[in-house]
Amino acid sequence: MGLRLHFVVDPMGWFCIGMVLFVWLYNSFFIPQLVLLPHFQEGHIPGAVVFSYYLASLLCFTALFRASTADPGRLPLNPHIPHSEREQWELCNKCNLMRPKRSHHCSRCGHCVRRMDHHCPWINNCVGEDNHWLFLQLCFYTQVLSLFTLALDFCQYYYFQPLTRTDEEQFVGNHELALLRISSFMGLIMFGGMSSLFYTQITGILADTTTIEKMSHFLEEINQPRKPWHQTFAEVFGTRWKILWFLPFRRRQALHGSQLLPSRV
Ligand SMILES: [Zn+2]
Ligand SMILES: [Zn+2]
Repeated sequence: MGLRLHFVVDPMGWFCIGMVLFVWLYNSFFIPQLVLLPHFQEGHIPGAVVFSYYLASLLCFTALFRASTADPGRLPLNPHIPHSEREQWELCNKCNLMRPKRSHHCSRCGHCVRRMDHHCPWINNCVGEDNHWLFLQLCFYTQVLSLFTLALDFCQYYYFQPLTRTDEEQFVGNHELALLRISSFMGLIMFGGMSSLFYTQITGILADTTTIEKMSHFLEEINQPRKPWHQTFAEVFGTRWKILWFLPFRRRQALHGSQLLPSRV
């Protein structure tokens, strides 16, 4: 697959992504131990629920890993600029390199990124042309996993029958209530935060506008003419196959001539 890992040296970013990984690890370990596996063994829930939880967890982690380690769209030192596209390029006054319009210089990463959306400390990486699709998947699957976790926490409190086989010696058995409350708290924070971020991202893509452009004063210039929704999404995800928009286990291919450089993600 030729996977290249992109690593940003930023202690604050490491701290933020460490917190995100802790939330994922906590829920992926304790919820199966506490709720899923014991109730599955006693026949209270079908195996499909256990499988779906692990699948949501896997998709969430894959999107996080790939979004944080993918090259967001860094420009080469000597880009080949076709003569017909010279008007579409400009000089960055910070790194003195030529870049396509809509690129932005990230001061955290220290280089320009094509169609940069923003720098996200929670993935310790820029969100740009080549990893924006992975960032959207991360927002989506984090919502799915948080909602799933909240539903299981709720069922454990109010709905599931009591377990007949309880091992009082186990850590999770002794601290069940505290573990569930921490899980519910984290689930609410993650679901609330990710829902608003996902909504902002989707409206931005529908308008074919990045977060940086939204905050600048050039919206009218950029938004003309407006593209159909499936076109803007296909350009972000790198494919017109809508089912593939949900899969983080693939390689993104740049669509037609709108991308001036080949994608390496
Ligand atoms: Zn630059
Ligand atoms: Zn950055």
